[in-house]
Amino acid sequence: MLKNNKFQISIVIPCYNEEGNVKLIYDSVSSVLSEYNIEIVFVDDNSKDNTLNIIQNLADKDPHVKYVSFSRNFGHQSALRAGLEYASGDCVISMDGDMQHPPELLPQLIKKWEEGYDIVYTMRKDVENVSFFKRVTSSLFYKLINSLSDIEINEGSADFRLLDKRIVKILVNDITEYHLFYRGLISWIGYKQAGIEYIPNKRFSGKTKYSIGKMINFAIDGITSFSIKPLKLAILLGISLSVLSALYGIYALYMSIFTNETVKGWTSVLVSILFIGGVNMILLGIIGEYVGKLYIQSKKRPYFLVKETNIKN
Ligand code: UDP
Ligand code: MG
Repeated sequence: MLKNNKFQISIVIPCYNEEGNVKLIYDSVSSVLSEYNIEIVFVDDNSKDNTLNIIQNLADKDPHVKYVSFSRNFGHQSALRAGLEYASGDCVISMDGDMQHPPELLPQLIKKWEEGYDIVYTMRKDVENVSFFKRVTSSLFYKLINSLSDIEINEGSADFRLLDKRIVKILVNDITEYHLFYRGLISWIGYKQAGIEYIPNKRFSGKTKYSIGKMINFAIDGITSFSIKPLKLAILLGISLSVLSALYGIYALYMSIFTNETVKGWTSVLVSILFIGGVNMILLGIIGEYVGKLYIQSKKRPYFLVKETNIKN
């Protein structure tokens, strides 16, 4: 079949311990896009298994296979950033390395791009293929982030999307925040966007690389990257508590001046001290989260460090 050589398409695939998936995803992406001029950029997030070896073997045989390997595990979002920095295509498609994002969808993404869209994002239709736990936590998370922040993120959006070269340029050159949350950034960035629905596959091999801890961190990053509403909520809560305690103070004064029943208040004192102490901790934690982010940002550390690559930049 005639090759469509008008433009180059980069596929960015972050991989962390995906030795059972790399070959399969390489085969399916190559065959689905056989008519296109592609490069596949594998970003190895310092896998502990054979992932990097397998990728290197593929790269030896096929010059379209590129890879970047990290010096340590920097996380999924940093791996995506590396992919955007190292990809050279006219558009860049990012997808997971576990076959959950169906390669058969790629031609549809490209078609939308050819129609003139700058960003083609995907929306996951939640079905049995996604675990119940994942569906519930993901839905809760998107409800929370949409009510707490000024941006609107589609429920079930994932890091499976196509970006035109100009968007990639913006994300690489102009977005310098350390705590990356690409789903939010894509919504924030605007331009001409189109969405495509898809049914995710089951993870082909291995198990999820997002531990509960990583998921919670990711959720906190998502919310704090796009909103300072939690700080405002803290102020509101503080004001409400102050008003309540002022009223209670008046009541206490009244009781001690006009009655003889003042010693009885042990329980209420204990409960209110514990309650206010707890609320204080939470509020300090919220403030601490933002201050900590400022602190990390001020260091201007790189997003990732590259140990090995076959890409000349
Ligand atoms: N991943 C990564 N670094 C990490 C965790 C995950 O590069 O620290 C990659 C992983 O290999 C996969 C993608 O990010 O290609 C999504 O991860 P996973 O499939 O485990 O997440 P889930 O689909 O369960 O949300
Ligand atoms: Mg997955």
